[in-house]
Amino acid sequence: MSRTDPPLPSAEPEPGLMPARPRRRARSEMRFVGIGVSPGIAIGQAFGVREPDTIVTRQRIAAADIEAELARLDASVRQSQKQLVKLRQKLHVLPEEAQTEIEPLIAAYLHMLGPTRLMRGIRHRVRETLVSAETAVAEETEATAAQMLALPIGTTEDDRASRDRRAEEVREIGRRLIRNLTRTAFRSFADLPNGAVVVADSLRPADAALLNPERVAGVATEEGGAAGHTAIMLRSLGLPTVLGAIGLSHKIEPGDTIIVDGATGIVILNPTAATLTRARADQLAFAEGRNRLAGLLRLAAETSCGMPIALHANLELLAELPMLSQVGAEGIGLLRTEFVFMNRETPPDEAVQTEIYRQVIAAAGGAPVTIRVLDWGGEKDIDSLSNAGLVPELNDVNPALGLRGVRLLLRRPTLLETQLSAILRAAVGATSDLRILVPMVTCLEEVRQARAIYDRVIRRLARDGVRLPDPLPLFGVMIETPGAALSADGLAAACDFFALGTNDLTMYTLAVDRADGGVGSLFDPLHPAVLRLMQFAIDAAGRYNRPLSVCGEIAGDPAFTPLLLGLGVRTLSMNAVNVPRVKQAVRAVELGACARLAAQAMRECDAESVRAHVVAFARKHGLTEPALPTL
Ligand code: PEP
Ligand code: MG
Repeated sequence: MSRTDPPLPSAEPEPGLMPARPRRRARSEMRFVGIGVSPGIAIGQAFGVREPDTIVTRQRIAAADIEAELARLDASVRQSQKQLVKLRQKLHVLPEEAQTEIEPLIAAYLHMLGPTRLMRGIRHRVRETLVSAETAVAEETEATAAQMLALPIGTTEDDRASRDRRAEEVREIGRRLIRNLTRTAFRSFADLPNGAVVVADSLRPADAALLNPERVAGVATEEGGAAGHTAIMLRSLGLPTVLGAIGLSHKIEPGDTIIVDGATGIVILNPTAATLTRARADQLAFAEGRNRLAGLLRLAAETSCGMPIALHANLELLAELPMLSQVGAEGIGLLRTEFVFMNRETPPDEAVQTEIYRQVIAAAGGAPVTIRVLDWGGEKDIDSLSNAGLVPELNDVNPALGLRGVRLLLRRPTLLETQLSAILRAAVGATSDLRILVPMVTCLEEVRQARAIYDRVIRRLARDGVRLPDPLPLFGVMIETPGAALSADGLAAACDFFALGTNDLTMYTLAVDRADGGVGSLFDPLHPAVLRLMQFAIDAAGRYNRPLSVCGEIAGDPAFTPLLLGLGVRTLSMNAVNVPRVKQAVRAVELGACARLAAQAMRECDAESVRAHVVAFARKHGLTEPALPTL
């Protein structure tokens, strides 16, 4: 870029908070079904949060950069096409009326992204006027929309409305292209009024990290799956949330009241007085249930036969630290450090990271802390890393199968060295049992290389006269790919402990994207293939005398507790809010019965039969039954 001109007017002055569309007709109660990913009932005013303003600063480019700029544009076109096709595939779940409304719109958008005058015009601007791709998109879409609006039209309301609609469609495709070019996070949540329910097409994990649970009542989006990182983040914030409520964001209007039931996945827009009364009663019952569970705080997490089970918390934000003592978690079983890198312009340096890890270790107050090093990739797009050119584009290839987790860290060893060094410095003087965990391992060589880097960092710090923690933190690996599970013996010999990540293990075993609600019904941790891989890893950990914990979402679901205990698991790490419910389940069961349940389950060849055993056990012991995978 050689020069920066004053800002262009945006394609449309569109605030971050969208008081939706103009009113079209009287509002009646509407119901949407999505995936309930974080329980609780939110009742509030719906606030449509659009992706960030598309205000584009006019940027000039050098002639030598033209091809690179056109390549960026092409990548953004491809990503936009993918997003729209994905949306179209999900339309069948909508009522017919909504399908008829949205389908032609998507077709129009996809058409515009093809070999049209609009796209030719955008490319021409990049080449001939030497401007950035986003500048060209903003200028060309605005010029095209203005031309459309200036065309002579018939005199009827319908003529005018159809002309305005077409101009708006051109602007909208421009906004989508620019969003995909700039990949800016939502940053306007600070302006949300108290008690708002956020409604959006989609939320990235980085966006979810910006929500303040004191001010936001709940969340409903059109995209997303139950096991995705956005869902995990929202659960950890305790926000009632429904993801994958297709058609919702097209329907909200300013002032709409909305109910979000994060357990059933139902979202109700403009509820009638009777529906509201029922929802308020459900809200009260939910709060009372939570209060009753608080009574478990002083009781031990042990089975009815007296086996202690360690219940730890998974943390994804510093804001969650006070939860540890509130729920009675006995440690941090998984600190997902992606938050340390999110929502900042540049990656944090060693000093910044050291301070954050110190805070976490201090808050644990001597309880065990497992810090997982950066797990970039999959749906976890992190701006500071892209800005620094440390990570590839997530758009073009399948990001879950790309340079994720340890693969990126080995490709960018400085990133890993900085983080390990910061953890070691933060751990000095700590009384906790500290552990370092490596994500997304698939083979022994990755563990050897990561461990070599760890040893190198220790040697460097020692050489520089830096005090080291004593004992040194243990070094463990996540078992979350079939490759890792099936290499568990070799990995156990090369590391100190295992953490079983059943979210990714399920995704990679069953080839189901955990963040895609469209295939949510296939994401089933009770599938025998997943259970067998788990069993394999658990047995290997036993043979090598390596501690093992389960830290995927099933660890926080009391319906899975008997099965996990029966498989031999003794440490569960979960979303902090779930600790009391899991403790209740632990206290209700006896290990012998759990082992018999696991043995029955492991003999089955299909998820339905496994589920039948788990359901029967739950009924017999008065426990929560496992939910069916979400549709
Ligand atoms: C998992 O995959 O189960 C896990 C705990 O890691 P994450 O959810 O952060 O990918
Ligand atoms: Mg994982």
